[in-house]
Amino acid sequence: MQTAEIRRRWLDFFESKGHTVVPSASLISEDPSLLFTVAGMVPFIPYMSGLVPAPYSRATSVQKCVRTLDIEEVGKTTRHGTFFQMNGNFSFGDYFKKEAIAYAWEFLTGSKDSGCLGLDPQLLWVTVFQDDDESIGIWREVADIPMERIQRRGMKDNYWSTGQPGPAGPCSEIYYDRGPAYGREGGPEADEDRYIEIWNLVFMQYERGEGTGKDSFEILGELPKKNIDTGMGLERVAFLMQGVENLYEIDQVRPVLDLAAKLSGKTYGASVEDDVRMRVVADHVRSALMLIGDGVTPANDGRGYVLRRLLRRTVRSMRLLGVERPVFTELFTVSKDAMKAAYPELEAEFDRILRAAVGEEETFLRTLTAGTVFLDQALADVKAAKSTQLTGDAAFLLHDTYGFPIDLTLEIAEEAGLTVDRDGFKSLMAEQRDRAKADAREKKLGGTDLSVYSDFRAKGVTKFTGYESLETDAKVL
Ligand code: ATP
Ligand code: MG
Ligand code: MG
Ligand code: MG
Repeated sequence: MQTAEIRRRWLDFFESKGHTVVPSASLISEDPSLLFTVAGMVPFIPYMSGLVPAPYSRATSVQKCVRTLDIEEVGKTTRHGTFFQMNGNFSFGDYFKKEAIAYAWEFLTGSKDSGCLGLDPQLLWVTVFQDDDESIGIWREVADIPMERIQRRGMKDNYWSTGQPGPAGPCSEIYYDRGPAYGREGGPEADEDRYIEIWNLVFMQYERGEGTGKDSFEILGELPKKNIDTGMGLERVAFLMQGVENLYEIDQVRPVLDLAAKLSGKTYGASVEDDVRMRVVADHVRSALMLIGDGVTPANDGRGYVLRRLLRRTVRSMRLLGVERPVFTELFTVSKDAMKAAYPELEAEFDRILRAAVGEEETFLRTLTAGTVFLDQALADVKAAKSTQLTGDAAFLLHDTYGFPIDLTLEIAEEAGLTVDRDGFKSLMAEQRDRAKADAREKKLGGTDLSVYSDFRAKGVTKFTGYESLETDAKVL
């Protein structure tokens, strides 16, 4: 079943259960405390907290999400994208646990002919919060799930709160068993790679008070209006239903992965490292496409920095696959074509999106080319001097003047059979940071007048190499 079809079925199903269909909000969250929209419920926070009366008592959406926290997982696990879509159904003081569980069960296991997904109920497991006997009772009653496939879990996994006073409550999650070929027996508690989490049901039931963060706080009492917030990972369900191995192989993502393989002349499935790189490219191109689509542009901080990091990691991954020429035009076009059925606005916005992406690609490729010339010479010098280690000074210069990320230096040195003085590099970085801090202090105190430099710049008197070093960060790759 195509991803767009699962999405359509979702919205139709919940609409038929009296939910108002709400379009996805932007990835740029309206909540100033969040960089991006990280979950389906984010646009509904004012209604959940009761600050603003909800215009409907039930809503459903398929929300675009970005989770930068998951960036290191991408390509390595089967189930984490930096961009993904969360299907949600929400109740604001309307229905509660029983209906939420019944809807989820019906949508997952109801027949395909009736508009549901037709998953095999024997393959589904659920988790509940340790004390939440009520949910266990409902699961038994509504879904007839045997006790063996219901697991109790603690605060960390199955209790939701924002970390601050306000609504809180237990969760119940639904997992899909991929079978013994994918890992150990024993349910999600034993192996979350075999048992894939697909849906989280949050029962906002209590008012929490002060306390330390997410796991130790006082419960003040029951909420006067209880809410339901659920999130089903659209890509996760798609990958399980499409019979592929991971979410990078679904119809909305796979074409980019295939193109990365074609451009590099490599075969997907032939090498573990290269496979990860292809999946990273496929994931990051799609995330960047959607972020630029929502108005983010590459920058050195905030949202723009996340975007820059995704774009540069893509360039880097393509280089590791052996492709050094510019390829963003091809990659982004294919990604756009795979996504436009669900997001037709991408077509109209594509020129702008492509310009931003290709601009960043060009800049970074130039950086890489300039740095590589210097690094090759430095490595030749090390060898000529019969040493085996590149100095911290050289690595620092590469970073500072050429904007060369340290990971890249390490990798190229390693390819040449040499090591890098990492401690030396680190202490030079620390010195630079201290200097910058001192400068900032001085500037704050009015010690230096920097306006004179901007005059130079305006007149084009001098070229600031500082620009290039500002553009990169060791964290980038
Ligand atoms: P995991 O434990 O697998 O990291 P999670 O518990 O962090 O997932 P939730 O915060 O409960 O995820 O989000 C609700 C649903 O959204 C999950 O059940 C999953 O289906 C989906 N989801 C979460 N993170 C991602 C991601 N990075 N990529 C794709 N889908 C995701
Ligand atoms: Mg997670
Ligand atoms: Mg989880
Ligand atoms: Mg979860």
